[in-house]
Amino acid sequence: MKFESKVIHAGIAPDPSTGAIMTPIFQTSTYVQDAPGKHKGYEYGRTQNPTRSALEASLAALENGTHALAFASGLASMDAVLKLLEPGDEIVSTTDVYGGSYRLIVTLFERYGIKAHFVDFGDASALKSAINDRTRLIWFETPTNPMLKIVDIRRVCKLAPANALVCVDNTFASPYLQRPLDLGADIVMHSATKYIAGHSDVILGALICKDAELDARLRFIQNAAGGVPGPMDCFLTLRGIKTLAVRMDRACSNAMQIALYLRKNRKVAQVYFPGFEDHPEHRLATRQMKHYGAMISFTLKEDTKRAANRILRRTKMFSLAESLGGVESLIGHPASMTHASIPKKERMAAGITDSLIRLSVGIEHVDDLLSDIKQALG
Ligand SMILES: *Cc1c(COP(=O)(O)O)cnc(C)c1O
Repeated sequence: MKFESKVIHAGIAPDPSTGAIMTPIFQTSTYVQDAPGKHKGYEYGRTQNPTRSALEASLAALENGTHALAFASGLASMDAVLKLLEPGDEIVSTTDVYGGSYRLIVTLFERYGIKAHFVDFGDASALKSAINDRTRLIWFETPTNPMLKIVDIRRVCKLAPANALVCVDNTFASPYLQRPLDLGADIVMHSATKYIAGHSDVILGALICKDAELDARLRFIQNAAGGVPGPMDCFLTLRGIKTLAVRMDRACSNAMQIALYLRKNRKVAQVYFPGFEDHPEHRLATRQMKHYGAMISFTLKEDTKRAANRILRRTKMFSLAESLGGVESLIGHPASMTHASIPKKERMAAGITDSLIRLSVGIEHVDDLLSDIKQALG
């Protein structure tokens, strides 16, 4: 089945008792048993829920995996992966990893004796020297947030020691643009809150893998710790998935046109967008992704927070808000919003300067988006 059909059909079957074409919202905490231990595969809502199972089957198919787990949020799903580790184990991750992922590793898991190295994955020797015989997890995003660098998934998987798991946070690309399991990753993580659900109305996370034993360990952690999504949120995510391909096509094409415009504007210093032929990893992006994504970051010639604020206040169709990946366009200021929890020195070293602005381009008409940006830049 092609991806565009999978989003509609994969893992979804009409409800056997009613024929309902849409997966019902099984809003129940428990399930009646015929005799102790004799049940229909569902015992208790933390452990199993049919709406959640349908969503998991869909997600597994979209990422070309065999197993998927849905969580209460993207970070709850990351938390489950980190709980695979033991004291003394080490993580290698990127300098511009999502702020919340950085915070989870550094403020919570480092307290339990897990050590993390944050390096630029574009620097092969830095990456190689961060990996050692205690490395058990390699965690990264591509495109990265908010600098939109592209990491070569296949290359990182080849560098990874045999006893280390490679987990790709595929939130920014979505499975429509790239499928890390096909390139050798062990686990794909999603904040389905973003492109997968796509309508800014749900918080949900997911893990997808191709290994039954790994899935069982993650499933055990999920059930033991309890970070599960509610059935209504699973339904909303399933509904959002159906339009993932058409939404991404439109959003990516809008983003390309906006990136080209920004580049010509005299107030703009630099535009970060992997769709540009002179983006350092453009050829890799072309090979690894279907389109170049719908996220753009740019800096201003006047590199101050004040100059950025002026634009952030003036846009009308681009709403000032955290998050990304919804049908509506958003504008954000990483230094004071998504990346505020990263110390200033590290933030600046990663390129997240005071004037850096991030756009999540939605699916509105591109002419309206362009005129909004034009009037805001003045
Ligand atoms: C939003 C986001 C997360 C966290 O997901 P939540 O659903 O908000 O918990 C993780 N990684 C990336 C890249 C994100 O954009």
